Amino acid sequence: MSSQAPFYYFDNNATTRVAPEVAEAMIPFLRDGWANPSSAYRIAHEVHKAVDDARAKVAALVNADPKEIVFTSCGTESNNAAIHSALVTQPDKRHIITSAVEHSANINFGEYLRKRGYEVTFLPVESDGSLDIHLLEKSIRPDTAIVSLMWANNETGVLFPIEEIAAICRSKGVLCHTDAVQTPGKLKIDVKSIGVDFLSLSAHKLYAPKGIGMLYVKRRTRYQPYIIGGHQERGRRGGTENVPHIVGFGKAAELAMSGLQSEYQRVRKLRDRLESTILREISHTFVNGDRENRLPNTSNIAFEFVEAEAVLMLLDQVGICASSGSACTTGSLDPSHVLMAMGLTPMRARGCVRFSLGVYNTETDVDYLLQHLPPIIRKLREISPLNPAHPDNDKYDVEAARAKHEQDLADAQRQGDEQAVAA
Ligand code: PLP
Repeated sequence: MSSQAPFYYFDNNATTRVAPEVAEAMIPFLRDGWANPSSAYRIAHEVHKAVDDARAKVAALVNADPKEIVFTSCGTESNNAAIHSALVTQPDKRHIITSAVEHSANINFGEYLRKRGYEVTFLPVESDGSLDIHLLEKSIRPDTAIVSLMWANNETGVLFPIEEIAAICRSKGVLCHTDAVQTPGKLKIDVKSIGVDFLSLSAHKLYAPKGIGMLYVKRRTRYQPYIIGGHQERGRRGGTENVPHIVGFGKAAELAMSGLQSEYQRVRKLRDRLESTILREISHTFVNGDRENRLPNTSNIAFEFVEAEAVLMLLDQVGICASSGSACTTGSLDPSHVLMAMGLTPMRARGCVRFSLGVYNTETDVDYLLQHLPPIIRKLREISPLNPAHPDNDKYDVEAARAKHEQDLADAQRQGDEQAVAA
């Protein structure tokens, strides 16, 4: 990218900017330290040592032993690998439990497993995005291989009670995995006190580059690799290590340990100011998800009578980056599966925007967003057939307009699906 117009970034749950310190730490391993860390000569030993150092730093971030850390290519691979291992090491158990609000890493892997004859329970959630822990307990069966539940939701920030979940799993003798991809630097992670068997992280949510993740595998947990090949990662993941990215991940973990966490006190204040001002200044707005029990950086707001995609387009025109849900589903006409699982109507779910802040956001960024957002919503509502206050509304039936709009979206979706099949 040669030139970049100034922008205001409120999409840190999609990915984070690479911290300059992280980039600096990686460069020597792109330029000079390119030897294969498994090779026997001296220059390779140095590279091997850099991987070991990074592993120690990532382990420290979650209070694990370095031997319990398996580097992977991303959070998706880590989630898939944990579930895969649980099924392969317990072939007589063919049931898994996850939830209806997981990242597509779990939702689509669950659907894939279903097609291959496994039974998958997608636990529903309450309207505030929380999990009914008793329902989880009742859903565990003698043939349940693993419970895989996210710690923090990427769309709403809502937290699941992971310690309680892990305790229930332990009491029933079932493996427990948590997708903690959205938590590092924002919440303290202590695998020993949480008590899970597996935990996934992805470096690009922590100011390190995309393409590197890790899976914590608790000591003495039976494990079958997902990627089968060489002896790397103590035989738990084949493939020559992505050394520069591993080093970057280690540096990001170190930075998180040494202060990013306290930065999130500041980020929470920014998020709260942003959210309360939007609610106060723009009518017909609602926060999705439990406002207490959630990440300090995330605000998912429903704007009635507008389409989020239109809001995002106009925000983009003034240099503001936000999103309507997971980056992995951008471009889909389907309303967010997370918001639908929380009981929002498709109409309301399509009017929701997620603002996710990070350590590089400033008061100035929030002021800029608060200056531009209200007129954008006003402008869109003025022309929206979904708006009951629309001046033309005495000329037509709002409900019929809404129904037609739903139908148009469904038709467009079907057409898209048909084209995809034809291709
Ligand atoms: N899990 C959650 C909660 C996420 O937010 C994401 C990414 O957005 C992932 C898993 C997937 O991580 P990755 O992009 O590293 O595969």
